Amino acid sequence: MKYCSLRFNNKNCLVGCELSQKCIVCKADAIVYIPYARAAFCREHFIKFYKRKILNTLKDAGFKGGKVLIGVSGGKDSVALLHALSSLRDDIKIEVAALYIDLGIGVYSSKSLEVVRGLEKALENVSFYYFDIKENLGFTIPETTKVLKRPACAICGSIKRWVLNKFAYEHGFDYVATGHNIDDIATFYLKALLTQRTEDILRGPEPLTPGVPELRLVGRLRPQFFLSERENMLYVNLIGLSFIDFPCPLSRRATLFKYKGLWENILSLNPVAQINFVKTILDIKKHLTPPKQSNIKLCKVCGYPTTASDELCFVCRLRKKLGVL
Ligand code: SF4
Ligand code: ZN
Ligand code: ZN
Repeated sequence: MKYCSLRFNNKNCLVGCELSQKCIVCKADAIVYIPYARAAFCREHFIKFYKRKILNTLKDAGFKGGKVLIGVSGGKDSVALLHALSSLRDDIKIEVAALYIDLGIGVYSSKSLEVVRGLEKALENVSFYYFDIKENLGFTIPETTKVLKRPACAICGSIKRWVLNKFAYEHGFDYVATGHNIDDIATFYLKALLTQRTEDILRGPEPLTPGVPELRLVGRLRPQFFLSERENMLYVNLIGLSFIDFPCPLSRRATLFKYKGLWENILSLNPVAQINFVKTILDIKKHLTPPKQSNIKLCKVCGYPTTASDELCFVCRLRKKLGVL
């Protein structure tokens, strides 16, 4: 089977018949053309290209190895990340473990749990951990949307960050790694620019965010920072990994998804646009001083960071509101 990174979802190829090309490395028939790299690859050399991008992203960010906890949702991005990082552990001197968070979102959660259990069997040398939010925190994500007037993804994102950080901190991990891709990152910054959220830009995602031990904050890694959803999809397909292939039913209300659609046209004009856009933002940020967050305290219930004046973090306040604290 041949893939073109611009032809997923049966959309028309925008670069002509590049697939008649040969692999840029070994000259075998190519299976994929990567427009921003202006290169075609065979299966083997696409996989190498993909992993090299992860290595370079981490190296350029100054990553020196350590214990890494990967948040695995069962989606293609985090499944690709777990597989790629576990196969690179000797190259980057890391210990890898995976944490699946059961969010209690009906069939979506039960199917993604099945995918992750399957992955656990396939990746024998990776430790897997499971965290059920209903069992541990007393609520599910659908229950939270009934009491908070915020988009489900904003609530869910805050809860997942809290769980991953707390779990990683308590189990001695140096970093939490997540499967954010260039589509997510570019869309985050685009939305922040278009809605004048200067603070979001200054505090926005980077490939590596160091931890702050005195605030019980574990470092963050985003190894797929410069890889697209389509490259992640291709990687899991070529390796033959299972992933959850239908969307979360709560994602429909996320405005970020609507902004994501804007990239289609821009990328058809310039395939390097997302990477250039994000690199430009990161370059600009190097010349700016991020605002100091001197108001961070530790939550009086759970002991993890909060900026709220009542010294309750988002999760503890939510539990109180739901009557489960
Ligand atoms: Fe959570 Fe939104 Fe992802 Fe669903 S789509 S799992 S609600 S962040
Ligand atoms: Zn090749
Ligand atoms: Zn708390």
